[in-house]
Amino acid sequence: MKKLFIDIGGTHLRGEIVSEEGSFRDTISSHEMGLLTYIDTQMALHPQIDFIGISYAGQVNKGVIAASPNINIDQYDIVAEIKSRYGIRSCIDNDLNCAVRAEASYWKSDSIAALFVGTGIGAAVIDEGKLVRGSHNMAYEIGHIPYRESPLHCGCGRSNCIELYASGSGMEKWLKYYGSEKPPYLESLKTSNTDEHTVATQFEEAFLYAAGVLVTLANPEILVIGGGVIDQNPYLVTLLREKLKDYALAPALEVLRIEMSVLENAPLEGAKLLEDDNG
Ligand SMILES: [Zn+2]
Repeated sequence: MKKLFIDIGGTHLRGEIVSEEGSFRDTISSHEMGLLTYIDTQMALHPQIDFIGISYAGQVNKGVIAASPNINIDQYDIVAEIKSRYGIRSCIDNDLNCAVRAEASYWKSDSIAALFVGTGIGAAVIDEGKLVRGSHNMAYEIGHIPYRESPLHCGCGRSNCIELYASGSGMEKWLKYYGSEKPPYLESLKTSNTDEHTVATQFEEAFLYAAGVLVTLANPEILVIGGGVIDQNPYLVTLLREKLKDYALAPALEVLRIEMSVLENAPLEGAKLLEDDNG
């Protein structure tokens, strides 16, 4: 039998087929094909698939996509639709909920918060070994906490979310607003003119603010950071270690370890843990 695991974010859709013979992965643009269409193509190629685990960069509850600021949706009721089309079981969870499961397993921790920055910025928390979900699986949606009013619009529709400052898509929106053609690479922006420099420094400040809020509210033993923007800018872990004291409650920091994710794709690894998940 084969299993299909998917991580879909605002930029990429990564799939992995796992069977007794081994595994193979592919990556496509998440704008190229909707999630259900991708599943249809994989089921046609691999009819032996008997389970699908999905990590989704949006709000998901009980197998249904509730909202998705950075991904176009081709099917909301995804788990029921997979069951009806193919008669197989599937699980879907928010990408950070998946990532924090994989990180908890890697760091062998039952008190861990994950803060990932890519197209968006998201967080998730495991406390006393249990994922903190909230009533509708939307706890710790840190990207959409109110931060500062801006002339821009977040994928959720508001104009003051921290995601507009501390994310890859946020930086792109600011660069476009300032008429800059530069890609959102922090270190090159920092050496540049005033507006591009502003985009980088306001990113750093918003990122520190998000981490400070997360650590102060969740009080984890480990804060692990990851995602595309962190991978491209590993200096951010040093920045956190040096500056987080100005953004978080001091006693919460005394017990905190800050680590950078070493997993190649924590959300995808977490999707593999969904099959046995009862939390
Ligand atoms: Zn928002």
